[in-house]
Amino acid sequence: MHDSGRRQFDLPSGAGNPRGLLIAAVIFVCSVLLLSTALHVRWDKAQAMAKSTEAMQTLAAALNSQAESTFRVADTVLTALISMHHSGGHGEANIRELNQVARAQISELGELDGLYMSDASGQYFLATNGETQSYNNADRVYFQHHQQGSGNELYIGQPVKGKTTGQWVITLSKGIYDDDGTFLGVALATLSVERFRTLYRSLPLGEQGIVVLAKRDGTILARSESDAQTYLTNISQSPMLKAINQGIDKGSVTLTAIVDGVRRIYGFDASPKYPVLVAVAMPEEAALAAWKQRAWAMWGFALAAVLGVGIMGLLVLRALGRQSAMAVELHAAHQSLATANSTLKTLATEDGLTGLANRRHLDGYLASVFQRARSDGTPLAFALVDVDFFKGYNDAYGHQRGDQALIEVSRAMRALMRREGDLVARYGGEEMAIVMPQLEAQPAVAMAEQVRAAVQRLGIEHRQSAYDQVTVSIGVVAGIPGDDFATVDEMVAAADRALYAAKGQGRNRVVLAAL
Ligand code: GH3
Ligand code: MG
Ligand code: MG
Repeated sequence: MHDSGRRQFDLPSGAGNPRGLLIAAVIFVCSVLLLSTALHVRWDKAQAMAKSTEAMQTLAAALNSQAESTFRVADTVLTALISMHHSGGHGEANIRELNQVARAQISELGELDGLYMSDASGQYFLATNGETQSYNNADRVYFQHHQQGSGNELYIGQPVKGKTTGQWVITLSKGIYDDDGTFLGVALATLSVERFRTLYRSLPLGEQGIVVLAKRDGTILARSESDAQTYLTNISQSPMLKAINQGIDKGSVTLTAIVDGVRRIYGFDASPKYPVLVAVAMPEEAALAAWKQRAWAMWGFALAAVLGVGIMGLLVLRALGRQSAMAVELHAAHQSLATANSTLKTLATEDGLTGLANRRHLDGYLASVFQRARSDGTPLAFALVDVDFFKGYNDAYGHQRGDQALIEVSRAMRALMRREGDLVARYGGEEMAIVMPQLEAQPAVAMAEQVRAAVQRLGIEHRQSAYDQVTVSIGVVAGIPGDDFATVDEMVAAADRALYAAKGQGRNRVVLAAL
């Protein structure tokens, strides 16, 4: 009972503050959860960005090669027409044939919108659309470019509103020169801007997606989302073009557009053959839409887990609190029980009036020392002390004074007991007993004599006594248990006989029992 109570109470402190440990564990688990979620969400975002960036670059490369192949077709056709003009001359028959060939090419090659040739004055002599006589292109930038001598290079001009069709077209032109280099005119192929636009708009880049076909100098040739006005704008100041002009032909960049404030992921690819490039962009928001949904889900899950762990921690904390409160109560109960116990024990072993050991205690003690002395073969002494003429004392002074006298006698006796193992007990009534282990007859008698003398020295008046004061008679017995007396009862009886002898001899004396 005592031990189990103590252990239960000690549990909280013995485990090294379990509340603190629990709180630390909950904080640790929650931090790990939140940190790993944050890391995972970040990693997932980087993945989403990388994927979109790669998609943009791939698309830019594909569209660039589409544009390049269209330009190559125009280049080839123009070269053929110039060569025919060169070999066949400017005669009427050749011009007619050239016109026929050009119309055939246009109907066969879907990429080209129109083919034209003009002479050194800008006057058309070949046109697949409209009448040749009605137009002159001497005012066009590309015409002036070739007039100044441009070699055999294909010239990609800025989009113009076609004189014959009224449509915005990209102009691809080559100069016609004599053998000696004299400028003879210009051969021109036109590509419909709308055709590029239709293709670009068919791509799944969303409302704010952008596809631009531009020249390296920043001239916009075609773009997915714009009106005619933007064909005249120039993007030469964009960081992308700056990168391309520094020799980086393909790549990606994330930029916030000045025009609409939208942040986009750009992929770009520049042609190695023609001075053009394609840039493709999608809004970062669209690229990250799926990631955003996943991130919400992951954070939701993490927060739910943190909440769960927190609630569980709280529940455990509360349970712990209840447990330690119970332990405190249990400890208090245990304490009062222990107090009650020791009081009971004292009550059980002590005489209420004199404070000496009671008869019960004496019997137990005597039995155990008797037993030990017998097995060790050591001596044991025992004395019975009886107050003389005590009935008379009570009669003369009253029972209360009698009690007081008993208390004083008891105190005097106890004061003399200095050896360990000696015990003074109230044997019953006005009779006391002294147990003196390991003491032989002579010292035992001497001890008894000291007791007798001490009581007399108290000088308690006793008119009914022959000695005029309170005295005691003592019967002493001493010997080796087992040898000199077989049982405790035999020993006590011997002491009683000696006491009876002392009374008979006149009281106030010590008599040693004869064995
Ligand atoms: P003797 O000298 O032969 O011992 O004579 P006595 O009067 O002492 O012996 P007796 O046995 O005739 O009387 C004992 C008396 O002790 C009787 C009783 O009133 C008294 N006594 C016993 N216990 C107590 C006690 O606790 N308090 C008081 N006041 N008296 C007690
Ligand atoms: Mg008596
Ligand atoms: Mg007596």
